[in-house]
Amino acid sequence: MKVSIDLDKCCGHARCYAVDSELFQLDDSGYALRADIDIPPGAEDKARQAVNECPERAISLH
Ligand code: SF4
Repeated sequence: MKVSIDLDKCCGHARCYAVDSELFQLDDSGYALRADIDIPPGAEDKARQAVNECPERAISLH
């Protein structure tokens, strides 16, 4: 499973970081750092939670 973040939509709410600070890393301004993230086994629920919590709908699962 992979997560994609549309960096153009990201507005730096940091909700994804609050869900899992290792998966969702932010830059110094609080915006998502990486557009493509491999989800390790066992972290799928956190990834789904982040998708639901992003106010900009910037996160998607594949
Ligand atoms: S929750 Fe969404 S808008 Fe906020 S930092 Fe994460 S990807 Fe960006």
